[in-house]
Amino acid sequence: MIVINHDGCILCVGCASVCPKNAIEYIGTRMATYPELCIDCGLCVKACPANVIEMFPGIKNVDELPKEVRRKYKLG
Ligand code: SF4
Ligand code: SF4
Repeated sequence: MIVINHDGCILCVGCASVCPKNAIEYIGTRMATYPELCIDCGLCVKACPANVIEMFPGIKNVDELPKEVRRKYKLG
């Protein structure tokens, strides 16, 4: 799965446009991500001009992320 640092995201939608699985979507105020669809290809990470996407290969939901990562990205 990927995690977006929304504070630095400029909503360019570049990540969503390169994602082959539609795992990222612009929902009006921010980019939403769908980890269950992500295949960890890394294309969005490379496409992001703001460098605010981090990839966590093999992880399929937020609960599996390390605690410090969840804290950093304010994910519950
Ligand atoms: S890593 Fe690939 S599949 Fe996953 S969100 Fe990014 S572009 Fe989409
Ligand atoms: S490519 Fe980066 S800056 Fe652009 S919408 Fe996606 S996360 Fe935000």
